[in-house]
Amino acid sequence: MARQSIHIVGASLAGIRAAEALRRRDFRGRIVLIGAEHQLPYDRPPLSKQVLAGNWDTDRIQLTKPEKLEELDLDLRLGVSATGFDLDSRTLSTSDGAEAVDGLLIAAGARCRTLPGAEDLGGVHVLRDLDQAMALRAELDEGPKRVVVVGAGFIGAEVAATCRERELAVTMIEALPTPLGRVLGEQMGEVCAEVHRQHGVDLRTNVGVDRLETGGDGRVAKVVLRDGAEIDADIVVIGIGVTPNTEWLEGSGLTLDNGVVCDATLLAAPGVTAAGDITRWPNYRFDEVMRVEHWDNAIEQGIHAAERLLTDDLDAQPFTPVPWFWSDQYDRKIQLAGRVRPDDDVEIVTGTLEEHRFAALYGREGKLVGVLGFNRPRHVMQYKTMIENGTSFTDAIAAEV
Ligand code: FAD
Ligand code: NAP
Repeated sequence: MARQSIHIVGASLAGIRAAEALRRRDFRGRIVLIGAEHQLPYDRPPLSKQVLAGNWDTDRIQLTKPEKLEELDLDLRLGVSATGFDLDSRTLSTSDGAEAVDGLLIAAGARCRTLPGAEDLGGVHVLRDLDQAMALRAELDEGPKRVVVVGAGFIGAEVAATCRERELAVTMIEALPTPLGRVLGEQMGEVCAEVHRQHGVDLRTNVGVDRLETGGDGRVAKVVLRDGAEIDADIVVIGIGVTPNTEWLEGSGLTLDNGVVCDATLLAAPGVTAAGDITRWPNYRFDEVMRVEHWDNAIEQGIHAAERLLTDDLDAQPFTPVPWFWSDQYDRKIQLAGRVRPDDDVEIVTGTLEEHRFAALYGREGKLVGVLGFNRPRHVMQYKTMIENGTSFTDAIAAEV
């Protein structure tokens, strides 16, 4: 398919991997990469881990070396936001003006949700970008602090672990009975809870936050829970999920529903694709419409969505990955591949829950649908291949790995 130019909105993981894929496919037209942030594309996973711990400088998290970026020959517009798009006229509006687009790839990601009333309170943080990570790190660097983490999802768990490694007092609050229970099921969620408690986190579950109180100086001083408990706090980190960055696409003619809705090939409309955290698409492998908020998905979707813009409809392939992610917490590498549900069958195939080192398989309707590993990376990758191959649950349990 002959295209003159491709605009990519979002200069982060999905966006830069898409631009690279276009050049690899020998696309010689203009690539305009538009990013709201001022920094060159950087990697987010270290923000809650090595960067927040103070172990890595920010130059270690660049996604592309300057010379590679040069080779890509991009029209790179940093500090510029897309503000609107009109599908009929194929006009993209940005904070710099408006222009006609040929191909458009949407990779604008997501931003953190927050608690009402928390926005302007000193000491309250969310963590999505480098500026936010450095602001939180600067406060942690000031000395002993009492940290309260709201939400025991990925951000909460990783920030809690990093803060405990910095020997700070940490209370973590989770509205659900077990952390990650909705993702991993109760039993495995309980293992995550145990890991945090063993590392000295005061984990409160099954209780929500009623309000944050200030000490009168504009800074947070207390977190009051719905059960009436009051927790003194110098720093509060809110990790209660994200909202896809789709507001600028309202009225564009694209379908929006908790993300940009695409077909199975990642096409949102003719000549428009989406990739990364912002994308909702039907993954035929799991017969499920999904939006995946993890690193590997952003890379693979970036590549697929870029190639889709260069492919005729008849030759287009569906995007059917087995999603996977990792999360580093203390000395544990937690990895999950597949799509698991709390009511799936679960079988431990190596290690034990007690030692927090194991691989657990998830089965549904006789098929292997997921694998969870605690410090078992080799097992996770081998069972992931079995999921890709459609292996039965029984055969997976019996397999020599
Ligand atoms: P993003 O990385 O969110 O990038 C979107 C970009 O678009 C941003 O730069 C944003 O500023 C820009 N943008 C938004 N709106 C506009 C607009 N209107 N105009 C122009 N630009 C715009 N995943 C894992 O699998 N393992 C991990 O250990 C892990 N750790 C993580 C730790 C942290 C702290 C965070 C925040 C995420 C982590 N993730 C992890 C998730 C992973 O980083 C994300 O899935 C990935 O960054 C998504 O990439 P993306 O390109 O889709 O979106
Ligand atoms: P998340 O993983 O969706 O977890 C949010 C957690 O907060 C959920 O358990 C949620 O419970 C809970 N919650 C929601 N509202 C709450 C409230 N009012 N009070 C207390 N708890 C509440 O989101 P996140 O941890 O904020 O992470 C943000 C993004 O970064 C996600 O896209 C995530 O995938 C990504 N990230 C990924 C990794 C990784 O893969 N290792 C690491 C860091 C960040 P409910 O389920 O009931 O809503």
